[in-house]
Amino acid sequence: MNDDLTRLEDALKTVLAAVPVLGAEKVSLLDALGRVLAEDIIAERDNPPWDNSAMDGFAVRYEDIKQAHAVTTPTTLKVIEDVQAGKFPTKAVGKGEAIRIMTGAPIPKGADTVLKVEDTENTPTSVKVFKEERQGANIRPQGEDVRKGDCIIPKGKIIRPAEAGMLAILAKSFVFVSQRPKVAILSTGDELADLDERFSEEKIVNSNSYGIAAAVQEAGGLPMLLGIARDSPDALKAKIRQGMNADFLVLSGGVSMGDYDFTKPVFQELGGEMNFWKLAIRPGQPVAFGKIGKTLAFGLPGNPVSSMVTFEQLVRPAILKMCGSQVLARPVVQALFQEKFSKRPDRRHFLRGVLWMEKGMLMVRTTGSQGSGILTSMVKANGLIDIPVEVEKLKPGDVVNVQVLGGGF
Ligand code: AMP
Ligand code: MG
Repeated sequence: MNDDLTRLEDALKTVLAAVPVLGAEKVSLLDALGRVLAEDIIAERDNPPWDNSAMDGFAVRYEDIKQAHAVTTPTTLKVIEDVQAGKFPTKAVGKGEAIRIMTGAPIPKGADTVLKVEDTENTPTSVKVFKEERQGANIRPQGEDVRKGDCIIPKGKIIRPAEAGMLAILAKSFVFVSQRPKVAILSTGDELADLDERFSEEKIVNSNSYGIAAAVQEAGGLPMLLGIARDSPDALKAKIRQGMNADFLVLSGGVSMGDYDFTKPVFQELGGEMNFWKLAIRPGQPVAFGKIGKTLAFGLPGNPVSSMVTFEQLVRPAILKMCGSQVLARPVVQALFQEKFSKRPDRRHFLRGVLWMEKGMLMVRTTGSQGSGILTSMVKANGLIDIPVEVEKLKPGDVVNVQVLGGGF
C-alpha cells in the first residue's frame, strides 16, 4: 500500500476519539422513536403484575381434574364466578369448584391450572372436563416478562417500537434520551446552484447538501443547511463561521489539490490540529477532519457518491457516538459475489451493491457503473460491498462482506 495513504480504520479511530457524547434531554414517549436512551431503564414492578390466564376457560384445582377422562371419568365442577379481563376474582376456588375466566384476568386463589373452554362442555353454573391438563397449564406467571428491579433496557440503546412498548409497560411516559447533534452542512463550488435558484444550463444542482442532510437525519442528527460557499477563501471562511455553533460541520467539495480547492488552507487557518487524509478507499480519497473552535469539521470529497460513502464510513459513526449509541456500524452480512472484479491492492473499495436472497443464500452484485459521480449507483444499492485493501481479484461465488444500507432487500 502507498505510504501516504491512510487506512480508513485509523482515520475512524482518530475521528471517534475526538467525539464526545452529548447530554440528555427528556422527551415524551411518542417522540422517542429512533432516539438513544440516556438512562438505564429499571423495572419498578413485575410484568405481568399478577398470575393471569393465557386462555379463555376455567380456573380449577389440578387435584380435581387429574382423573378426568372422556369415556370413563368425565369430571363435573361447579362454576362459582365469572371473571373478565379487568376484573379481579372475589372468591377462591374450592374443592369441586371452578371459576370461568377470560384471557388476561387474574388467577383466583385456590386455582393452579386453567382449562381451555374448547376442551370442556359448560353451562352457566357447571363445567364438564373430559381430559386432564398439565398442572399450571395456561397460566402466565407474575413477572414472567419483567422482574421488578431488573435493568430491562440499557442506556445507549436506540428506541424501536419494541422498546416503546416496553417503556409503556414500565409506565415511562417520558424518557431521557441523548440530545441530537447539530450538523451544519456546507457545499462549495462556483459551479453549484441551489434547488431554489432558477434552473441554469451552466450550473450543477447542489445535491450533496440534501443527500448529506438526509444521511444526518437518518443517523439521528439535526441538519442545518448553510448553503453554498463560492470558491474563494473569504467566502468559505464566512460560511464556516456561520456553522461554528454546530456540533459538526460537514463540508463537501474543494478538498482536492485543484487551483480552486480552498478547504485545506482555510481549515488550516481556522482549525488547530487538522488531519488531511488521503484515505486508502475508493471512492472518496481526500478527506479532512479536525476541530474548528468546538466544532468537529469534516471536509468530504465533492463527488456525490464519494461524499455519501465517506459520510457512511466516518461521519455516521461519529454522529451515532455523539448520540450515545452503543452501535456505531451498519449491520454487515456475508454474501456470494456474482461478478468478476479486479483492482490494485492499495485501496479498500466500497462497491454499490444489490443484495438478494436466492435458494436460502445471500447474493450480491454491483449496481453497474461505479463512477463517483454516478448517484444512481447509490439509488439502486441496498448495500456497500466492502473489498479489503489487499484483495486483488474476485470471481463469482467468492464470499464478500456487505454493509447493509436502509431500504431492505
Ligand atoms: P471538487 O472536489 O470541489 O472538485 O468537486 C468534485 C466534483 O463534485 C465536481 O464535479 C463537482 O461539480 C461535484 N460537486 C461538488 N460539490 C457538489 C454538490 N454540493 N452537489 C453536487 N455535486 C457536487
Ligand atoms: Mg469544487
